[in-house]
Amino acid sequence: MEYDIAIIGGGPAGIMAAIASSKTSNVILLEKNSSLGKKLLLTGGGRCNITNNKPPKMLLSFYDKKNFLKHSFFTFTNEELYSLFDFDFIEEDNNRIFPESEKSIDVLKGLKKHLDNVDVRLNYEVTEIADNFIINNKIKAKKVIIATGGVTYPQTGCGIVNFSLINEPLTKIKYGLSPLITKEDLSQIAGITLNNVECSYKKSKVRGNVLISHVGLTGPGIIDLSSIISKEIDYDILDNDTDLSCEINIDLMPAISREELKNRFDEDFQKNGKTQIKNYLKNFLTNSFIEYFLNRTNIVPNTQLSRINKKSKNRLVENLKRFTFEIVDFNKDLAKVTIGGVDTKNINPKTMESKITPNLYFAGEVLDLDGPTGGYNLKIAFSTGYLAGLSASENINCP
Ligand SMILES: Cc1cc2nc3c(=O)[nH]c(=O)nc-3n(C[C@H](O)[C@H](O)[C@H](O)COP(=O)(O)OP(=O)(O)OC[C@H]3O[C@@H](n4cnc5c(N)ncnc54)[C@H](O)[C@@H]3O)c2cc1C
Repeated sequence: MEYDIAIIGGGPAGIMAAIASSKTSNVILLEKNSSLGKKLLLTGGGRCNITNNKPPKMLLSFYDKKNFLKHSFFTFTNEELYSLFDFDFIEEDNNRIFPESEKSIDVLKGLKKHLDNVDVRLNYEVTEIADNFIINNKIKAKKVIIATGGVTYPQTGCGIVNFSLINEPLTKIKYGLSPLITKEDLSQIAGITLNNVECSYKKSKVRGNVLISHVGLTGPGIIDLSSIISKEIDYDILDNDTDLSCEINIDLMPAISREELKNRFDEDFQKNGKTQIKNYLKNFLTNSFIEYFLNRTNIVPNTQLSRINKKSKNRLVENLKRFTFEIVDFNKDLAKVTIGGVDTKNINPKTMESKITPNLYFAGEVLDLDGPTGGYNLKIAFSTGYLAGLSASENINCP
């Protein structure tokens, strides 16, 4: 069977490439799962944070590879994305966009409505792409778009490793947007949220909520910090046994400086000498976190403020401003994205075509592209998918 374009991978990037290319070309979409968009259904906790509504230039500033992404973002804008659906979207904090039904299944259904002209093959795993784009010895295409996603969340399908058979250099592959496992046992305080704290690793800082889990830390502040940590550590998922341990700090009161906090303590400790420290700290910390915090600060929770000496007071201030956790690993099974992939140095950002293999295109997470939480990763998938589909379908008869 011969097609103009074969698209491998039926996630958001592959589906969007199929939508863009099938307007003018004869397209086949090959997906190894029994349904399209398995990962898309999980996004945003099942609500699908489909994109981010910041103005394009500001939006781009959140990505490491802003120059690479620029053309695709301006070719396929958020407005064009919204226009594909017959329902509205809602905007939440930090410009995060969700479908009004808050159901990712509606996004998937909406996208699938545009696939009428596409030959969609499910349960079809591509294991070989031979010369002249002969796929699995059966399907022939003039052009191929690879949109096989990353390696994380393997239960939803993953691709990069399979495509070592393609002559396309990969950068190091790492975990992104991942919860972190701590050395400290946090099981006693699991479920607590530390609101609007500042998480830091070396000089990098991320503001956001932190959620304490049974094995460590998660929540937006930690998830975004994890990608920063992952990029700094030299390792590759494909090589085992790398030591991923490190130390992070949490500023539990980022809105107030050390100096201001010291002055406030001096005043309050004098005025309210009989108050117990565990009650006083309710002004600053989530109630259920106070005992754990005081244990680690070596202060007995019932101690009256008048009995806290200068050294302990300094320790309190220091721990409120710089509470340390030892990280022993990423919570790898829950990493939301893959950092790294097909090296974008070898991809033309104006078309998504490989500079090494003509007529071979890449889109989405299979590429060395990633963004923070907040709709930034689906934005990559949709925009690069659309651009790859559009470019591949141009001049299809004169490759
Ligand atoms: C739990 C979770 C929540 C997330 N929430 C959000 C969010 O709210 N907002 C956001 O922007 N991002 C979110 N992301 C990230 C986002 O889902 C991904 O970045 C996005 O799905 C990438 O799209 P893709 O099409 O490139 O890859 P994928 O969605 O991974 O799709 C790739 C497809 O290719 C198929 N495939 C792979 N190899 C082959 C093969 N050899 N033959 C045939 N088919 C193959 C796979 O089965 C898969 O269906 C989340 C991720 C996770 C895991």
